[in-house]
Amino acid sequence: MITVEEARALLFDLVSQLPSETVALSDAAGRVLAQDVQATRDQPPFAASSMDGYAVKSTEVELHAMFKVIGESAAGRSFQGSVGPGQAVRIFTGAPIPEGADFVVIQEDTERRGDLITISDLPGPKTNIRPAGVDFTAGTKISAPRRLRAEDVALMAAMNIAAVPVARKPVIALISTGDELVMPGEVPGPDQIIASNTFGLKALLEEAGAHVRILPIAQDTVSSLRTAFELAEGADLVVTIGGASVGDYDLVSDVSTGLGMEQSFYKIRMRPGKPLMAGRIGQTAMVGLPGNPVSAMVCGYLFLLPMVRRMLGAEQVLTPFQTAHLTEPLAENGPREHYMRAIRDEAGIRACPDQDSSLLSVLAQANALLVRPPHDPARPADDEVQYLPI
Ligand code: AMP
Ligand code: MG
Repeated sequence: MITVEEARALLFDLVSQLPSETVALSDAAGRVLAQDVQATRDQPPFAASSMDGYAVKSTEVELHAMFKVIGESAAGRSFQGSVGPGQAVRIFTGAPIPEGADFVVIQEDTERRGDLITISDLPGPKTNIRPAGVDFTAGTKISAPRRLRAEDVALMAAMNIAAVPVARKPVIALISTGDELVMPGEVPGPDQIIASNTFGLKALLEEAGAHVRILPIAQDTVSSLRTAFELAEGADLVVTIGGASVGDYDLVSDVSTGLGMEQSFYKIRMRPGKPLMAGRIGQTAMVGLPGNPVSAMVCGYLFLLPMVRRMLGAEQVLTPFQTAHLTEPLAENGPREHYMRAIRDEAGIRACPDQDSSLLSVLAQANALLVRPPHDPARPADDEVQYLPI
């Protein structure tokens, strides 16, 4: 059996970076920038006032100095003229500083009577002027790759970048397998349960930037599973869930092999998620996840998310582990790497008491996967451990 690290390396070989496409700026959030973009203008494009007040010559600023107001400069409507000695221009935030002026006395420091203002409080040295290009200048770059956040979108808008080159979204087809499964909202028979894995994985993978298609549930028959694979046509990655073990109804291996799957590996030395299968069918990567809901989600975090990021050409493919101190002791670990559902809080980290891989209620309470190396000895409270935030 291979390690988690070896499995990741093999999984990365199954996918490659996808080509880019151009999207409208308003659709760019969450996408991965595929090429550098650059500002075509300076911001602000002119020296601008940062306050409401009066634009004057700085050499004339002193207590009780008096100025004649000769006009107004508002945002979007500049003063057409020049400020001479003893003159002031009424100015508002964001408005261009008129020629001849190099200081804005804030409104609060003045008294106005008709056309005349007097400086009633001595201003400090701050000019209240934003120089042209102080935010960014033409040619300022946003470098790819970069997962675009709301802040990046705002910056690109200010840079007048209306169309954004981003990595195409990886298309992932999710296939639940099992006669016992029905879709949420359906009425299950007495022996049936609701398919949960595809919904959890869709949420996880779409948050990472994939486009996920949930296919109809495949029954535990060769023909039903084959049909599901046919429906997955066009996906960059096909993920089956369940049916990957050695039971009589575990048909994923047989059916995918029949469809020409070149197997990369089967089984990883880890808990949960041991019976994971991976390979390639033609150009499409295929991963067969174990069916137990917690196993499927943990494998989603450890393997599918990095594969998605790899296809997107993201700057960071693996989420780095973090460290925390145990608030409760841990028993020794067995021969497999263990990803324990755990709760991280201000006090430290503690493993959830029941680690059964079918318990979604435990997973939903957890916010971390506590990582135990193979044969990790028993650990007392206060020991430092590694974890992956979830
Ligand atoms: P299998 O690997 O098919 O034997 O499935 C292992 C366990 O996971 C069984 O208890 C299945 O009922 C359950 N299971 C499989 N697929 C899903 C799914 N999509 N949603 C929820 N449970 C599942
Ligand atoms: Mg099954």
